Amino acid sequence: MTHDLELIQVGKTYPDGTVAVSDFDLKVEKGEFVAFLGPSGCGKSTTLRMIAGFEDITNGEILIKGRDVSRIPPEKRPTSMIFQNYALFPHMSVRQNIAFGLDIKGLPKSEKDQKVDRIIDMFDLTEFADRRADRLSGGQRQRIALARGLVVEPEILLLDEPLGALDANLRRIIQNELKLLQRELGITFIFVTHAQSEALGLSDRVVVMSNGLVEQISPPKELYRRPASPFVAQFIGSNTIIEGKPDGTTPEGLVCLSTPLGRIAGHGAPTSDMAIIPAEAFRIDDSAGPGALHFEGTLTGKTLVGSVGHLRVRLADDREIEVETHADTDAARALTPGTPVTLGVDPGAVTLIHS
Ligand code: ADP
Repeated sequence: MTHDLELIQVGKTYPDGTVAVSDFDLKVEKGEFVAFLGPSGCGKSTTLRMIAGFEDITNGEILIKGRDVSRIPPEKRPTSMIFQNYALFPHMSVRQNIAFGLDIKGLPKSEKDQKVDRIIDMFDLTEFADRRADRLSGGQRQRIALARGLVVEPEILLLDEPLGALDANLRRIIQNELKLLQRELGITFIFVTHAQSEALGLSDRVVVMSNGLVEQISPPKELYRRPASPFVAQFIGSNTIIEGKPDGTTPEGLVCLSTPLGRIAGHGAPTSDMAIIPAEAFRIDDSAGPGALHFEGTLTGKTLVGSVGHLRVRLADDREIEVETHADTDAARALTPGTPVTLGVDPGAVTLIHS
């Protein structure tokens, strides 16, 4: 099957020797919404720019709909890019800004006008169509940037931190619009962000990157449930990480680790040496069920927000961990800092990985 986008062992080393991206492999299906997520400097924008053609690749291949576009200039690729600062021409009107991409492609005037009118209508921009781009609000500029990106009917829309310049409220509104728009148009979106909530809330799959390497490619839920590397376990959600040595399997086929906090069973490869337990997997009292792992500790702090209790618990090895209780908030309410507490965890919620 042909994918909309395929990166094969893509790498980028800048002329000054900076290795920005290494061995990036990715297959994206038509209509998927994929986010590149990671801390600043991890190589997200470089990868996006390589897909757009604004940056040469040093190694590998980039295929769009099965065609190798690695050596094709940006304007000949079926992609559009939306930049964080929108890169609008301030003195040009909304209409001229939107038409710009079509001008580059050398479309006949009548066809161009028709396409521009249609997108202006679709984005509800008719009343601003003749206004200069620098006389518009941030949210309006954002929409024009999107309209300009979409008017050329790209196969893939590339978005580089497109909501970064907006305040929190507007960001939420435009996030929703973006998701609806993507569903409606069925266009593949590749979205770069360093904001977790944005990546996890908007995308079908997230590519987590660190130091130029892909750490994990998963649907958002899987990043929480089954982090694949120590970096992801520390970066996403709130996990307790316990190191240990391989120690056989349970009759149910779970893999075990021997750790300073006892034997821990979970899902993972037999060679694993690290257990990851999400904060929300811990139960206080006996609500964890039969077969649960148990950890003894002392409560050091708690905050109850509605039906969620955020507890801090010091374990036997003196580390303090975060525990998030949903089911047993009544039990959490009864606890006072300084009291001993037993935490139960269903081994099914534990992920074992190799460090
Ligand atoms: P991100 O988008 O995740 O913040 P970038 O892709 O912008 O990361 O950068 C990845 C790495 O490449 C960083 O170390 C950055 O300093 C470096 N880098 C980016 N652009 C250039 C450039 N033109 N020349 C040299 N190094 C660069």
